[in-house]
Amino acid sequence: MELEKQQIEKFKQLAQLKNEKMILLTELENNQPQPLLLTENYDIEDSCVIYMDNGSVCACFPCGHKCMCQDCSAQDKINKCPICRAEIISVMRIY
Ligand SMILES: [Zn+2]
Ligand SMILES: [Zn+2]
Repeated sequence: MELEKQQIEKFKQLAQLKNEKMILLTELENNQPQPLLLTENYDIEDSCVIYMDNGSVCACFPCGHKCMCQDCSAQDKINKCPICRAEIISVMRIY
């Protein structure tokens, strides 16, 4: 039957199109920039601004920016808030 043949042909074409689309999609996924994955379970607002791998547990006084880990807050050279550059008089550990 001619009509049936045509339908099969059409179906084959569709299947191929779908396949190509799938390949395109997987290619797109593979080309995704990696940093996106990093930010997924990574809360940047809750991280030390100096060493991003540490959590920020210390707040600058008097400006009040919680932006440093304990290691950084213990460093003498950090005497200005990394966020607003206000002078740090003391650092408060936040629990
Ligand atoms: Zn730090
Ligand atoms: Zn500040």
